[in-house]
Amino acid sequence: MTDPLKPGATIGILGGGQLGRMLSAAASRLGFKTCIFEPGGDCPASHVANYHFQKSYDDAEALTAFAKSCDVVTYEFENIPTSALDQLESAALIRPGRLALATSQDRLVEKQFLEGLGLRPAPFVNVESATDLAAAIARIGTPSILKTRRFGYDGKGQLRLKGGEDPEALWDEMGKVPCVLEGFVDFSCEISVIGARGADGQVACFDPGENVHRGGILHTTTVPAQISAALRTDAVLLAGRILNALDYIGVLGVELFVTAEGLIVNEIAPRVHNSGHWTQNGCLIDQFEQHIRAVAGWPLGDGTRHANVEMENLIGHDMDRLGALAADPQVALHLYGKSEVKPGRKMGHINRITPRG
Ligand code: AMP
Repeated sequence: MTDPLKPGATIGILGGGQLGRMLSAAASRLGFKTCIFEPGGDCPASHVANYHFQKSYDDAEALTAFAKSCDVVTYEFENIPTSALDQLESAALIRPGRLALATSQDRLVEKQFLEGLGLRPAPFVNVESATDLAAAIARIGTPSILKTRRFGYDGKGQLRLKGGEDPEALWDEMGKVPCVLEGFVDFSCEISVIGARGADGQVACFDPGENVHRGGILHTTTVPAQISAALRTDAVLLAGRILNALDYIGVLGVELFVTAEGLIVNEIAPRVHNSGHWTQNGCLIDQFEQHIRAVAGWPLGDGTRHANVEMENLIGHDMDRLGALAADPQVALHLYGKSEVKPGRKMGHINRITPRG
């Protein structure tokens, strides 16, 4: 284990979106400097970070210079090109490590990893051709969901099958890229656990939150989730197993479906997660500080929930409600500094607080 970073050290963050912004702010509170790597210009993290490498992920020289200027490198998104990771790894410590990225970048690898741990993903079949797809539909049945194995997020790269579709046409529509066909899970609700593991192997999880999606995008996360104490314990233990199996350092999000037969793992995200934003106003130490603590080799903080919280994403023209939200005494506002409002674009979020029940 390497020594804990001292205040004044520089934490590198790959990606300059809102997660990078909130990680930078948390790092700054602990006295660290931050350096982001993000090809885009006026991006949310660049407003609050100390340094910004505005370079492309295929610029090997820039990646090396970035890595050399950082004491540790972390990331806000999982789809970092492998070639860039190779380049960075030769010059810097990357936390969380490569195993977590390799596992979560490909839905097939992720599901096989989960099964190997004795956990339950949705029923799935690998699809690499139209013929595979026809066989997969015969096996999984409908309704089902066809998902690209890589680069999917917020419901993108997915097609819902109702029955009677032509496999050739579906395969064309997905762009002829490797996919998995997933059985449609009949769930009563969706929850997620935000877990953390320190460099010393200590594990701590936040209380599971209950998630509601609209149009494939997270709408609200509510804590406490309306599930039994037994399921809450199952969810937290399951996240701990994933963290340990990946020898993970940092914060990880685990999305779960609650079914009559128990918990089914939808997916894991090797980073801070939108469904963990409630921790900013519901806990002494939030997911962003917890992540910074872990990657800096510091002890994990206390993430005990001290309030009931409903987190709501402000998407596109939800920003029209800003005046009323700013005047609401129960609401904490978190805005991402994005200049242009676009439909479907995450502009900020609110945490609505009530006393802990
Ligand atoms: P994902 O991008 O995999 O997180 O999927 C986005 C949303 O689609 C999930 O949060 C669920 O609401 C829904 N979904 C995804 N996979 C399934 C499934 N196998 N069965 C039922 N609903 C699903």
